[in-house]
Amino acid sequence: MIDLYFENMQMPSRNEPCWCGSGKKYKRCHLNRQRERSIEPFELDEIIRGSSDKKYCMHPNAGKDTCAGQIVKAHTVPTSWLNSIADNGHVFSFRISKPSLMKLSHSEGSHLPERIGINEASTFTGFCSKHDSELFKPIENEPFRICEEHSMLLAYRAICRSLFEKEMMYKCLLQVAGIIDRGMAPQLQYYHQQRINIELFKLNLDIRDLRNLKRSYDEALTHKDYSKTKYYILSFDSVPEIQCSDAMAPICDYEGNKLREPIAVGALDALTFSIIPTSNTGKIAFVWLGDSAICLDFIASIHKLVNDKLPNVAIRFALSYLENYYWAPTWWDSLNQATKNHIIGKFQPKSPEGGINPLCMQPDGYNFVNWKISSRDYNFEF
Ligand SMILES: [Zn+2]
Ligand SMILES: [Zn+2]
Repeated sequence: MIDLYFENMQMPSRNEPCWCGSGKKYKRCHLNRQRERSIEPFELDEIIRGSSDKKYCMHPNAGKDTCAGQIVKAHTVPTSWLNSIADNGHVFSFRISKPSLMKLSHSEGSHLPERIGINEASTFTGFCSKHDSELFKPIENEPFRICEEHSMLLAYRAICRSLFEKEMMYKCLLQVAGIIDRGMAPQLQYYHQQRINIELFKLNLDIRDLRNLKRSYDEALTHKDYSKTKYYILSFDSVPEIQCSDAMAPICDYEGNKLREPIAVGALDALTFSIIPTSNTGKIAFVWLGDSAICLDFIASIHKLVNDKLPNVAIRFALSYLENYYWAPTWWDSLNQATKNHIIGKFQPKSPEGGINPLCMQPDGYNFVNWKISSRDYNFEF
């Protein structure tokens, strides 16, 4: 199909913009790409590393006169929390600090979990040292309280990380687009450019929405007005072996009912999700900002479930939709190989055509945790 489309495509003349959408002249872009030297995995790794060394402060009042100290590795899951599940200062994660295509090529394209030091785990260089400690002091230095302020801080950090990473990925993909298809046949060039353009389009929409959302959070935090925070928090009886801080935009509810189109041009309703330890117990926190029918419908579909089901539903949710989660080495060792393979399978990137199974939170024959839910707290009406 692609071959046919490509073969019928009118090639631009040398000085016209290239067909790939890069904005460059054809002669400086794809005209001779087939004859260029093909790219090695280590060269792509250099690009990925180069675009992941961005550092800036995302605090609402960030600026030359207000920031102080270096840009730090801000933890989305604090070290003190990860410490509760670490083995020799390490946890497991799919999110290694330096993603590498070289490693991927050794594992035949599969992303495998790795041990990561808790000082590196979950970090992003998105706050200066002063603003990081000032802003997140309430949830870093005090026990987590079920309240709008603490919930907002959890959510804000997840939103900032998500925005930071998507901006980084966008920059990285733009560079990759310029070299990935060197030395390839024109049909393959077209295939790669199409896939990258779809990803760039989606990223662009996500970045736009996350920037807008961050502005709303910034305003609320600046005025210490936490009233628009909506939380749905499940408390349970043990320290969570998996800890998480991430954001997503629900597409389906628990039953698989569609809540919105998978690629929506309108603004997305972001929902943040955290699994955190609180002394000897734990909490699962869904948090969003303002009135969102989509987030509310999503939570309502989960709220119908009995307590016994909820912890594993939450884990399936994290494994299916999120990536910024970390787990105890002792827990990983306790799983059988089939469960480990299932978790690894869930993490692998989905093809643009594939997407996530709408029923991914429903029982699938695997149970991951035995947490006992003791209460559900929320600050809105169903
Ligand atoms: Zn081009
Ligand atoms: Zn700052």
